[in-house]
Amino acid sequence: MDYFERRVRRILERARVKSGDRLLVAISGGKDSAALVEALSVLRGSIGYKLAAIHIDLGIGEYSRKSREAALKEASRHGIPLIIVDLREVLGVGIPELAKLTKRPPCSVCGLVKRYVLNAAAVEWGASYLVMGHNADDMAAYALKAFMSQDLESLSKLGPVTETVPGLAVGRLRPLYMLSEKETFIYSMLRKASFTMDECPHVNRRQVEIVLKRAVGFIESRMPGFKVQLLGNLARRYTDYPKPKEPLSRCPSCGLISSGGECSFCKLTRRALGEPMGPRMRAYIRQKLHELGLEVAGEN
Ligand SMILES: [Zn+2]
Repeated sequence: MDYFERRVRRILERARVKSGDRLLVAISGGKDSAALVEALSVLRGSIGYKLAAIHIDLGIGEYSRKSREAALKEASRHGIPLIIVDLREVLGVGIPELAKLTKRPPCSVCGLVKRYVLNAAAVEWGASYLVMGHNADDMAAYALKAFMSQDLESLSKLGPVTETVPGLAVGRLRPLYMLSEKETFIYSMLRKASFTMDECPHVNRRQVEIVLKRAVGFIESRMPGFKVQLLGNLARRYTDYPKPKEPLSRCPSCGLISSGGECSFCKLTRRALGEPMGPRMRAYIRQKLHELGLEVAGEN
């Protein structure tokens, strides 16, 4: 447990997290984010940052019900305020319907919606960082995928810490960057964390990331230390990759980050539901922050 927490602490130090900083942790209900919440609540005492968590109820039947329950248990166990964003409550539909309405694969719609909601909540709370539970196996697979397609802009964002663009996007922190899936699982068991092992029913076993993750496991078994070496090198060099070329702009509908014109969430919801839902999502999150007694940035 000490080893695990030392590795997490090292990333927090690299990001210069200090007393009074606001860390917003994304909890999915799975083992990685549960381990993250455990480690962050252990280290909170000595560093003195403020913690809040966010869970997105994706509206995927039994899977979402179990995930939400686990997230609630895990957050309340440590007295961490939890923002639950229920997609059906805000949009009237969950991920499966959004995917059908836009004729896009559910995983791509889900990724887009999650990125938007997590960033929106971090901006509304004025978080110093949005903290994600990606482990070393996830990161190695993402890195290989980005390298395979020579997507250098993605590589430039695959470090343990990413930059904040004030008012538009909050930087991400990945404290489990150098911790494997196995280590994360063992740690969450030792800490008796609450999590579900259920998998999303939409997961596609042939999806590139999943195949690459298995390949990473195979290479690691033949070449122990492969993952740590790959990620250690990437952590040193990711800022050298070219940043996105398009100038950053503000979505005319919701005011958050876009790569020109309306942001992808406002576009997606306009297409599926006839109206850009960014503003409604932001208002819903502000309401949740009020209910939890958390400050809303820019409302002082
Ligand atoms: Zn927008």
